[in-house]
Amino acid sequence: MVSPGSTCPPGKAHVSGAEDVALHDIESDAPSVTFRRDGRVERVTARFIAGCDGFHGPSRKAIPASAGREVERVYPFGWLGILADVPPCNHELIYANHERGFALASMRSKTRSRYYIDVPLTERIEDWSDERLWDELAVRLGPEAAANMTRGPALEKSIAPLRSYVFEPMRHGSLLLCGDAAHIVPPTGAKGLNLAASDVHYAVEALRGYFLHRDNDAVATYSARALKRVWKCERFSWTLTKLMHRFPEDGPFERAMQLAELDYIASSDAAQASIAENYVGLPV
Ligand SMILES: Cc1cc2nc3c(=O)[nH]c(=O)nc-3n(C[C@H](O)[C@H](O)[C@H](O)COP(=O)(O)OP(=O)(O)OC[C@H]3O[C@@H](n4cnc5c(N)ncnc54)[C@H](O)[C@@H]3O)c2cc1C
Repeated sequence: MVSPGSTCPPGKAHVSGAEDVALHDIESDAPSVTFRRDGRVERVTARFIAGCDGFHGPSRKAIPASAGREVERVYPFGWLGILADVPPCNHELIYANHERGFALASMRSKTRSRYYIDVPLTERIEDWSDERLWDELAVRLGPEAAANMTRGPALEKSIAPLRSYVFEPMRHGSLLLCGDAAHIVPPTGAKGLNLAASDVHYAVEALRGYFLHRDNDAVATYSARALKRVWKCERFSWTLTKLMHRFPEDGPFERAMQLAELDYIASSDAAQASIAENYVGLPV
């Protein structure tokens, strides 16, 4: 049962094990969040809600559809990834655009590696034994990387669909969306977490402006400020995805464009600087 008017206990900064989370009155100056814990429904009331609950969380869904717009591109493939306790095959990431498809060699640490290949969305994870995946990686990454690749059992193995998605504006009333709650990028540019962090930076600035300086504009401009960076990261992630994958609809012209672009990047300091600037992360 919801206890009307109850608020978060003073100093209570974190609640774990919350279920049935729902947002209320987000267009008012006293929005609240209800949740069920240990069989009881509790309510937290605040001046603002930061919706940092990922793509499937309740925050974005609390905004009326007519109050914003969704822009989306769903890609015709997913990434089959393997995480294993093996040393990386190279100290740098390797992105490969092979005739059999995309591959990425990346790492979490000196002893833990993360590898990906792209697969049609119809592929089933059960059909990919660890050995089959290592074999495919060895082919797509090429002989030099394959010679340095250590194989090992999968700690985790999954297929993730790829999409580009933005919900805008990122603020509705007293609700500020941050991170995957507002946008998704294909993982090619490794920008998802980076974008979530920059959204939080802008949200903190907005809330500081409001509470410390009574600056209503700070909150009013949150969405526009965050979206400027979001759209640039969407652009970079989409560009890199187009460059590194073979799309079913692509023909010889698109393939020639990919090769010309890769050759340009390999031979131009300006192109390399641009990729590096975007990959490391645009200024906040
Ligand atoms: C396979 C894969 C590889 C990736 N690799 C990279 C990478 O290399 N670099 C990078 O920058 N990004 C990467 N990302 C993207 C990155 O993980 C996300 O962009 C980032 O985690 C978004 O952070 P977030 O806090 O917005 O959302 P999330 O990390 O999704 O966090 C949302 C939180 O809200 C909680 N939550 C949601 N709904 C509810 C509810 N109803 N009640 C209570 N709690 C709820 C969730 O439990 C979760 O803790 C990758 C993603 C995937 C899937």
